[in-house]
Amino acid sequence: MFSWWKRRRRQKILEEHPIADGEWADTVAGLPLLQQLEPGQLAELRAMATWFMAEKDFYAGGDMDVIRPVELLISAQSCLPVLNIGYEWLEGWYSVFVFPGAFRSRQSWRNHMGLVDDDKRVLAGVAYQKGGMVLSWNNVTFDVADADDGNNVIIHEIAHKIDMRNGPADGYPALHKGMSRGRWAKVMQSAFEDLNDKARRGRPGIDPYGATEPAEFFAVTSEYYFENPERLQDVYPDVYGQLHQFYRGAAAV
Ligand SMILES: [Zn+2]
Repeated sequence: MFSWWKRRRRQKILEEHPIADGEWADTVAGLPLLQQLEPGQLAELRAMATWFMAEKDFYAGGDMDVIRPVELLISAQSCLPVLNIGYEWLEGWYSVFVFPGAFRSRQSWRNHMGLVDDDKRVLAGVAYQKGGMVLSWNNVTFDVADADDGNNVIIHEIAHKIDMRNGPADGYPALHKGMSRGRWAKVMQSAFEDLNDKARRGRPGIDPYGATEPAEFFAVTSEYYFENPERLQDVYPDVYGQLHQFYRGAAAV
């Protein structure tokens, strides 16, 4: 639902907490991932990043210093997955913790707190069912430097947050009108099983972390969709097709 109040509140944020032209130019220049966007898409992303920065509280972990360029870089990438599906997909949570490097989290929290953590990077990022996300700055900057390898911890955690809007992360986000749940389930399940097979044989076509569970499959393939869509289209064309419908073509080939 998009109320008059919400529209007005968003407009007020744009007026009162704008991202200055110079800092936005620096952010875009620092993110090769955004180079493919059209000027109109970049303007929309800038508005979304403004709302994201105003709505989320950024917290520093360890000796991290969360300065404005850090917030900008995280906000711009966080909004990329929802660029064509609407900012409301990022609403309802309020915190972004940034640690300087990889951090640890107790596995035993998983079921009790509904968190999905990413062991492979021990830990590059965590998304909480009832809360925000945690990122390792070291991993964020590493992913920024290589914008087409299909690895992006921010997109990964945001995909979990999107997935969590209709319950615990399970690889089945709330689909748009016109999309078939049956088709989604069939395509995702079959590719997930294929990745498991190939990972066991040591020849996965994409990051085998996606084989750990369906939620991770959705998060990992979302990373490819935005960072290396060609690879995803090549290895799992039907998954690419479903994600293309879901993300409505944002930043794809
Ligand atoms: Zn994950």
